[in-house]
Order: sequence, then structure tokens, then C-alpha cells
Amino acid sequence: MTITPVPPPCRRGPLISVEGLNGVGKNYLTNRAVEAIETKPLLLAEFSQRQGRRPGLGQALLRSLREASAGDPFLRGGTPMAEALLLMAIKRHDLDTVLPDLARGQSVVEGRSVDTTAVCQALLLHPDNPAVARQTARDLLGLASSYRPLPDLTILVTDDAAKALERAQRRDRCVFTGEQADFMRAACTLFEQLAATDPARYRVVDRRSVDEYEAAEQIRAWIQGAGSGLSCLMEPWQGPDAVCMCCGRRTTAGAA
Ligand SMILES: [Zn+2]
Repeated sequence: MTITPVPPPCRRGPLISVEGLNGVGKNYLTNRAVEAIETKPLLLAEFSQRQGRRPGLGQALLRSLREASAGDPFLRGGTPMAEALLLMAIKRHDLDTVLPDLARGQSVVEGRSVDTTAVCQALLLHPDNPAVARQTARDLLGLASSYRPLPDLTILVTDDAAKALERAQRRDRCVFTGEQADFMRAACTLFEQLAATDPARYRVVDRRSVDEYEAAEQIRAWIQGAGSGLSCLMEPWQGPDAVCMCCGRRTTAGAA
């Protein structure tokens, strides 16, 4: 009997996303969590926090979306499906820029990832039908996962939409319109519903039931715990025989 040696696990770092509404405290809580971590993860700023610091294609695509949406805080320019594909391209660009870091074992935390795109664009495609929007959000995630692997772990920070709205308005020194507030309320619900469909990938911090200290501590523990037992990271469009984007190994049975 021959004994097949078990290959060592991939030594890449974990890809973690932090999701949630505007004003829910994603950046604040993530920064607080990271302060308590000795080996710092690499933080990738979310769309709205980027101010020209990361030149390149991702920034150029984002600028196009901003221009086409004429200052809308949710980058809505009137063609939700085309915008969805551009947003997915930006998230693919983000992944490309951090692949060398993941490959050397670095943890990467992205502020907002494909879940934001799935939630917001599904609501724009089906504004008057929550059930269809819910299914569309799942379908858009499926589409996004053919562009790039989904995060290993997604932390959803959630709260009452009204509280998030209040914080966002204070922070951005603006007053959201009634329509924008309605959109945030619908997004709040859909984020929570989407998270409930995949408990293996999502962890939920609900600020209705934990204070900010507990919330930051939960996030810290999840970030620190995300690095073990990771499988290889494959190009989703290349099928099961592809090599890992991080370690370059083939992991299919019978492959050398
Ligand atoms: Zn690998």
C-alpha cells in the first residue's frame, strides 16, 4: 500500500472584508481592532475613503463612476448592471494589488468588497421587490465570485439604519434625502439577509447588542483567527486544475 503524503496547507495570508452601511462604524471599529494586533494586517481602504492615494486602474475606474453619478453618495449613475461590472472590476484590481502580500502570508483586510456591490446594485435593479432583490444579491455575488475568489471571511458591521444614517450625516457634514435614507434602510436589511445565507463566511457584529469595545474585540479575534487552515486561492474562471495564485501549487488529485 502506498501512502500519499498530505501536502502542507497553503501559507498564504487570509483575505478578510469588512462590510456594512455608511456610518455603521466599519473603519473606526476596524482601526480599533487592529490597534490591538501586534502583526498588523494590510488595510485596503474602502471606495469612499480613497483620495487619490492609490493611483492606477482601480482609481481611474472609481473616478469614472463618481463622475457618472454626479456626487451621489452611493455612486448611482442610472445603469446599475454596468456599474456592478465596473465595481467588480475595481474589486478584482484590489485583489491583484494585494496578491504578493497574500502570497507572503500577510493578512489583508479590505474595507467593503463584493458584498457591498451585490447589495447596492441588487436594490437598484429591483427597488420595489425585496424578494427579487434578495435573490439578485445572491446571483450578483455568484457573478462576482467568477471574477475573483470571495473573501475568506466577511465581517458585517450592522446597526439600526437610523443610527448609521445619523453618524454618516455627522461625519460627512451632509443631510441625506428621504430617498437616500430609504435606500440605506433597504441596504441594512439586505446586508443582514445576505449574511444569514452563508454563516461559514460571515461574522456579524450587531451594534444594537454590543458596545464599541466588545465590537472591536470581536473584530480583532476574527481577524487574528482567520489565518489558519486556508486552502489555495484559485482563479475561479480557470477551473479546478489551475495553480494557486499565491503558492503556485496544483492541488487537484493526481496533479504533480
Ligand atoms: Zn496555495
